[in-house]
Amino acid sequence: MINLELPKKMKAASNQAHQAAAQIFRPISRKYDLAEHERPVELDTMASLVEGLADAGQAASGATMGRGTERKTEGNVNGGNMASLMNVIETCWGDVGLTLSIPYQGLGNSAIAAVATDEQLERFGKVWASMAITEPSFGSDSAAVSTTAVLDGDEWVLNGEKIFVTAGERSTHIVVWASVDKSKGRAAIKSFVVPRDAPGLSVARLEHKLGIRASDTAVLLLEDCRIPQDNLLGSPEVDVNKGFGGVMATFDNTRPLVAGMAVGLARAALEELREILTEAGVDVSYDTPVNNQHAAAAAYLDLEADWEAAYLLTIRAAWMADNKKPNSLEASMAKAKAGRMGTAVTLKAVELAGSYGYSERPLLEKWARDSKILDIFEGTQQIQQLIVARRVLDLSSAELK
Ligand SMILES: Cc1cc2nc3c(=O)[nH]c(=O)nc-3n(C[C@H](O)[C@H](O)[C@H](O)COP(=O)(O)OP(=O)(O)OC[C@H]3O[C@@H](n4cnc5c(N)ncnc54)[C@H](O)[C@@H]3O)c2cc1C
Repeated sequence: MINLELPKKMKAASNQAHQAAAQIFRPISRKYDLAEHERPVELDTMASLVEGLADAGQAASGATMGRGTERKTEGNVNGGNMASLMNVIETCWGDVGLTLSIPYQGLGNSAIAAVATDEQLERFGKVWASMAITEPSFGSDSAAVSTTAVLDGDEWVLNGEKIFVTAGERSTHIVVWASVDKSKGRAAIKSFVVPRDAPGLSVARLEHKLGIRASDTAVLLLEDCRIPQDNLLGSPEVDVNKGFGGVMATFDNTRPLVAGMAVGLARAALEELREILTEAGVDVSYDTPVNNQHAAAAAYLDLEADWEAAYLLTIRAAWMADNKKPNSLEASMAKAKAGRMGTAVTLKAVELAGSYGYSERPLLEKWARDSKILDIFEGTQQIQQLIVARRVLDLSSAELK
């Protein structure tokens, strides 16, 4: 049975994240939307807060994901995944771009948590890691990695180009997907932790974007980039029978998180919209049938229902990860639903708020722009639906493309 009640400890952490979102993020949200590529210095102070929470066992850091601080094996466990999810819902209620810029909470940290050995977790548990999968030749088809890693003595030598790397300029480390042997296909794709100061690593440029402008999105070049041999995450063995399940396990942890980002952002839009409707004299009632209410109130109730469905799917996926239940299907369901819901809710909120919603006075138009990426990165809407279909129909990726 899923227990939907949050433990007291988690509520406290969630409240703390909400305070940070309200007091630190919201006041600078518009500033960094307009000042793209400027580093949000206000977030430096958050680094120690995040580290403190992780040390206190509240698992706010992405690095603890999948490694729940509670090691209970029976009953309901709410560990690292659920804590990170609750945290990200609140910080994204504040601002998604700034959330992606919080030091030590990169998507690469989740990759480390999902794939690293205990020794590696010890070494890389407290770095700020971004995640570099996408290349100029592919996005959705992550089996098409063309970056190479060749062992030379006791070092890996990496060559390739990675594009659209979130926090690719600011993070201290980058988790890079590369092939150790192209002739062996997807099984040879491994992830490597590349320190920012590794020789041969450089930032070619930063992207200009529709939304999440507070977050840096970088193009990275790896030119004979050398890293220590033991920076390969997990097992170096290439097992063609296993495919690339190892690196793909990252997504079981990160997709519920990205779904949580959409849940937090959409809740912000719903709250703002509700206030605007109330000020305009539109009351929303939970006791009156929708067809007897103002059309805007009926539309609002629809949006809330959509939000609730996404929220429930998302906490189920995180709960399953914490309880060591295979959750690939549920993680994709959550990401598909929440990604769709996020864009629908924020855009409808602009529409219902009229020209005021379209202006830069409230944050509604910004949230509508920010939401779109949550339906694209970590697997697009179409890719999530493809994964769900494969799982439900029990078809392989070769059978259903
Ligand atoms: C702001 C931003 C931040 C990002 N951050 C990161 C990051 O940190 N790390 C990283 O590695 N990548 C990152 N990405 C890249 C992102 O993950 C990819 O853009 C995404 O996976 C889609 O790839 P693509 O853009 O190449 O689209 P394509 O794969 O070319 O897809 C184009 C369209 O075709 C659809 N499509 C593709 N295949 C199928 C199919 N089989 N069936 C049906 N439809 C299909 C897609 O859904 C999409 O609508 C980021 C991107 C952006 C914009």
